[in-house]
Amino acid sequence: MEFETRAIHAGQEPDPATGAIITPIYQTSTYVQDAVGEHKGYDYSRVANPTRTALQAALASLESAEHGIAFSSGLGAVMTLFHLLSPGDRVVLIADVYGGVYRMTSQVYEPKGYRFEYLPAEEFANLGDHLDETTRMVWIETPSNPLLNIVDIRAAAEAAHAAGALLVVDNTFATPYLQRPLELGADVVVHSTTKYLGGHSDVVGGFAATSDPAIAERLFFLQKSLGAVPGPFDCWLVVRGIKTLALRMRKHCENAMAIAALLSRHPRVERVYYPGLPTHPGHAIAARQMRDFGGMVSFLAESPEEAAALVARTRVFRLAESLGGVESLIEVPARMTHASTADAPFASPPSLVRLSVGIEAIEDLLADLEDALVPAAA
Ligand code: PLP
Repeated sequence: MEFETRAIHAGQEPDPATGAIITPIYQTSTYVQDAVGEHKGYDYSRVANPTRTALQAALASLESAEHGIAFSSGLGAVMTLFHLLSPGDRVVLIADVYGGVYRMTSQVYEPKGYRFEYLPAEEFANLGDHLDETTRMVWIETPSNPLLNIVDIRAAAEAAHAAGALLVVDNTFATPYLQRPLELGADVVVHSTTKYLGGHSDVVGGFAATSDPAIAERLFFLQKSLGAVPGPFDCWLVVRGIKTLALRMRKHCENAMAIAALLSRHPRVERVYYPGLPTHPGHAIAARQMRDFGGMVSFLAESPEEAAALVARTRVFRLAESLGGVESLIEVPARMTHASTADAPFASPPSLVRLSVGIEAIEDLLADLEDALVPAAA
């Protein structure tokens, strides 16, 4: 079946008890057993819950994965994946990794003896040179947050595998509608479902997918052992969100392209980061491995002061962290989502403004940005 059909039906059979077409919110912590150890596949909701089962099956299908494992947040998924490693293991990550991941690597795992190297996107052409026998994992975001850097997933998978390492791809920005890393050779895909998969800024969640049975078995074990599991209502919200993922992503991409074009010719914008622009250094790779270029656009304002001032001037674009909802958001990563990278070698530029372009009428979004970019006369 096609992607749009699977988004609506995969893992979402009518409820066997009532015929309800929508997967119920199984708001229960435990399940009655007929005799000791005799149950219907569920014994305790940290281990498994039917609403979570539906979400895991649906998202695994969309990522072309054999197995899906849901978590309480994107960082809950990241933390659990790092438990595939042991102290002393080395991980190579894309340099402008999400600030919360950098906070976890630098302040939680590095003090325990795990080792991390942060590699700029342009260095990924020579990824093999940065891998040694202690490197267990390569971690990329593509497009990356917040600079929209692009990494060639197939080439990264080949280099990682040649060194005996796993390739993990954070697919939060692209979503499986635009890009499916497992089909390109990645071992694990990770998501913050808080973003496009949920799609309505009303839930926090995470997800990992893999087709490797050994990794999947370990992740299910870690899911129940570490306990970063999502509640049934949160799972239900994401199941509902993904039904319209394809439609939403098409509009996000269309609006983002129009906004990138406007910003590119605007005299008060120093530089635009959007992989859909032919001038973007990763454009050719993005065009090859993505269906379209996504809904995130970043740009450099004239100064850090102007960046902070202009994000307070927009009216349709709301000043807020997060991304991927139907409504447009604007922020300054260096002072908001990526403040934790301030001391990193790859700190977010202070004049950078990040847009999560929503699915409102494009005329209103363009007018809002044009008004905000030209400060009112004193
Ligand atoms: N990965 C990326 C690319 C993100 O943007 C985020 C959050 O912004 C996360 C992971 C973490 O997800 P969560 O906020 O759901 O824990």
